Amino acid sequence: MIFAKKSLGQNFLTNTGIVSSIVDAGLVSSGDTILEIGPGRGILTEELLKRGARVIAIEKDAELIPLLQEKFRDRMEKSQLSLIYEDILNFNFSPKEPYKLIANIPYYITGLIIRKFLTSEKQPEKMVLLVQKEVAERIIAQNGKESLLSISVKAYGTPTYIKTVKAGSFTPAPKVDSAILLIDSISHDFFKGISEERFFKILHAGFAHKRKQLFGNLKAIFKETELKERMKGFGIPENIRAEDMLLENWKKLCEV
Ligand code: SAH
Repeated sequence: MIFAKKSLGQNFLTNTGIVSSIVDAGLVSSGDTILEIGPGRGILTEELLKRGARVIAIEKDAELIPLLQEKFRDRMEKSQLSLIYEDILNFNFSPKEPYKLIANIPYYITGLIIRKFLTSEKQPEKMVLLVQKEVAERIIAQNGKESLLSISVKAYGTPTYIKTVKAGSFTPAPKVDSAILLIDSISHDFFKGISEERFFKILHAGFAHKRKQLFGNLKAIFKETELKERMKGFGIPENIRAEDMLLENWKKLCEV
């Protein structure tokens, strides 16, 4: 018996209905290439393989590797599954074919995983991730609830909240509920004609001080008169808060 390691964010799914929902959300079908982060004991891996996908699974826990090798011996011999013992944060993935990222990820590196794969040169077509419910809600938030996180994600893809997953669907149960998050239509297209670096510089500055209005925050990186003119020209009210700014307006501020 192997005990779950808290330090590796191990909460193993036990609810097969949720496993199906994750795979359904990714529209997984035969011939797909799937990158899975943290296969754990293989419950999600098994469903992905059943649907005929080719799976590359990256697992950091050495103790789980022999267990997975045993469980999936046939699939590994047929090269339908490649199991790689590695930390996902050190793993460079750039396959020739398109791929989907589908995983019940360790929550302690949620932000790093999302950023790594959205910004990578070889992005997945879509991601289906189990994340903490509150994180999924923050990412899909609109109408005055935008954040650095939500705008960053929306610059690369279209996030959708698929469904809530109760803490009791895992062993051990995490402290909070989770959610299935889909990020679809991932690309770098939004950044055509603008600098990605400048976009994020403006975004970070804009959200730097929560209580200040956008104008006050952006004065740190723009000349005041120029900023005033720009905002006016684009029809952005001078007293707007960063939380109310739409993605397209951030882009406008970027244009030179
Ligand atoms: N997918 C499985 C396990 C989820 S728990 C299930 O749904 O049941 C998270 C998994 O990620 C664990 O197997 C853990 O060992 C693995 N993990 C944690 N940190 C990791 C990292 N940095 N790189 C790759 N895998 C990691």
